[in-house]
Amino acid sequence: MESKLTLYNTLHRCKEVFEPIAPPFVGMYVCGPTVYGDGHLGHARSAITFDLLFRTLLHRGYKVRYVRNITDVGHLENDADEGEDKVAKKARLEQLEPMEVAQYYTNRYHDAMRKLNVLPPSIEPQASGHIIEQIEVVQRILDHGYAYERNGSVYFDVQAYNEKYRYGILSGRVLKEMQAGSRQLEGQCDKGNFCDFALWKKASPEHIMRWPSPWSVGFPGWHVECSAMSMKYLGEKFDIHGGGMDLIFPHHEAEIAQNTACCGSQSANYWVHNNMITIGGQKMAKSLGNFITLEQLFTGDHPMLNQAYSPMTVRFFILQAHYRSTLDFSNEALQAAEKGLERLMKAVRVLEKISPSAQSSVSVGDFDRKWREAMLDDLNSPIAISVLFDGVRLINQLYDGSQSLTEEDLNRLKTSVHELVFDVLGLQDEQSDGNPDRLAGLINMILQVRMQAKANKDWATSDKIRDELARLGVVVKDRKEGCDWELEE
Ligand code: ZN
Repeated sequence: MESKLTLYNTLHRCKEVFEPIAPPFVGMYVCGPTVYGDGHLGHARSAITFDLLFRTLLHRGYKVRYVRNITDVGHLENDADEGEDKVAKKARLEQLEPMEVAQYYTNRYHDAMRKLNVLPPSIEPQASGHIIEQIEVVQRILDHGYAYERNGSVYFDVQAYNEKYRYGILSGRVLKEMQAGSRQLEGQCDKGNFCDFALWKKASPEHIMRWPSPWSVGFPGWHVECSAMSMKYLGEKFDIHGGGMDLIFPHHEAEIAQNTACCGSQSANYWVHNNMITIGGQKMAKSLGNFITLEQLFTGDHPMLNQAYSPMTVRFFILQAHYRSTLDFSNEALQAAEKGLERLMKAVRVLEKISPSAQSSVSVGDFDRKWREAMLDDLNSPIAISVLFDGVRLINQLYDGSQSLTEEDLNRLKTSVHELVFDVLGLQDEQSDGNPDRLAGLINMILQVRMQAKANKDWATSDKIRDELARLGVVVKDRKEGCDWELEE
């Protein structure tokens, strides 16, 4: 009997056995990118973490509705509800329509996700397409007495909320301490309390992204979109809410408060957060000059990069760390990931060439059980990958004849390796040129002609084929029976 999936629930600060509300259906909401710039390593880590969770759930047979939003309005320059909208600012600087900016960066984000083999979500709603739903959420919070209107803007009343429910259950923060630590409000702000946050903002004359509402012509606060869109597509109660750790406060904390103020309870049973990527131990930031976009990683075009790194190298590098640990970027670490991935893919290719034996000298069951257990234990991909490298050793031993497997066991091993490498970890063989079967088929056919020539003692033809293939980068090695080939690197 296979064990159940456990996940670390940020809300309860412990690992819990995952039980969907309505099995086999799973509702999962993940905070996606704000589309005003190119995707970077942090985006890749979050997307790959939740892709791994999505794939693991699918592999377990769940039917998952995975919603990942696109923030194209309402994300202001600072968390204190001030400053320009990030998308609108980019539009102003580049003289574009804000939706042109959002579309341009959404397309680029999708392109990077495709390269990283991140499965598309089931629904990808945009904040700007859900203004009516957001106005409804704000109205419900007002009706329930947890918000107030000031000069056309609406703010969440954290103090009033905290008297009935506790504000800070996700982050572990305490309102009194937050208030004590905050600076006094100066006259320029409509907020009644420093900890309150905007649900709706009245647009200033120069603000271009604006919609009518009962309170003013304006725009929604950043946190409202996730409450409105998760409720619309997954209902008031759903299974998993995810995002990067940097979103725990204020974004997810505010979301919990909004949903509770709206519906009497918060939305998600499991809150799952991935940790951050550091560069040389430092946080990645434009101001530190260590900000590397995915495009730059794939092309190598950044002063900190010694070379280009393929999307699968980046994916493998991210999967080698547990999602809740910090992951430090360096050229050395990525080069090691590149080598490891190549060794792995070589073994996956070799696996196809192994012939079965009459008896098995090892058990395949151990390999299969260990990686499944690792993945079910809070998505422990580093352990699953170390088990995979035990598998690589076994494959190489099977190939050189020091271990053997029956046809049945060999097929079990192939299935197990393929499931882990391709279905769950979502890796791809980049060496295969997109059409591995055709190339391999051609080479094998040519080598059969060469075998025929050898059988006929036509050494001239046999050598010619070998030399011509070598010229094309196909190295042929003769073995005791038949021959073997590989593509030159
Ligand atoms: Zn969100």
